[in-house]
Amino acid sequence: MKKQLYHNEKLKSLSEMAASISHEVRNPLTVTRGFIQLLKSPGIDDEKKNSYLDLSLQELDRAESIISDYLTFAKPHENIEFELLNVTDEVNYVVNVMQPYALMRNVSIKKEFFIKESYILGHKRQLHQCLINLSKNAIEAIQDGGKLEFKVKKENEKATIQLTDNGVGMTSEQIARLGVPFFTNKEKGTGLGTMVAFSIVKAMKGEIKVNSKMNEGTTFTILIPEDKGTGTVS
Ligand code: ADP
Ligand code: MG
Repeated sequence: MKKQLYHNEKLKSLSEMAASISHEVRNPLTVTRGFIQLLKSPGIDDEKKNSYLDLSLQELDRAESIISDYLTFAKPHENIEFELLNVTDEVNYVVNVMQPYALMRNVSIKKEFFIKESYILGHKRQLHQCLINLSKNAIEAIQDGGKLEFKVKKENEKATIQLTDNGVGMTSEQIARLGVPFFTNKEKGTGLGTMVAFSIVKAMKGEIKVNSKMNEGTTFTILIPEDKGTGTVS
């Protein structure tokens, strides 16, 4: 399979993100360290002890969520290598990965492929991360069971992946704030998922469109230029 090595500037925004994300991970770690220190103080009562432990666990969960929204699949020091990817294979992979999370939240995942193959140049694990972040949001937006649907098609020489949920939907203000780092409407949110997804798609010279209606649901459409068989993206 043809592979293409890409230089760092293509993913500069991702590495800039890494700097702010390590800063965000450090905060919960510092807070947790403080609680553990407090737990060592003599004569501490059970009530205080339990509250310090609960807060520590909460903060560690937070650090874990930040890392998983940003880096589920990345390996440290991995070369930024773009390769030819068939989007239908990658969507199939992500649907399998998301199945347990969907099941846990009573969401059924459907997929509809209008084409068998459509090739793009991208980074496999980053494309997975992007689709996982968006489908995680879709599943989290669904209350009391619902449906997440993946569609893969071709539109104007672009590989098109569409994710539709019948979740809570978003106001136009919420849509406008998508991708803003650390902006979240969730109690335990990181506000990183969409920012990471947007910047991964941008690195592949693609774009994301959002359509949403309150109490009806949301559609994210990812459009990525198809590889025309040259193995290069200009
Ligand atoms: P987080 O999920 O940690 O809050 P994200 O960047 O992944 O951070 O998402 C930011 C916000 O965008 C979410 O808190 C949510 O309010 C909104 N959002 C994203 N995707 C959807 C969706 N499919 N349906 C409804 N709201 C969404
Ligand atoms: Mg999210």
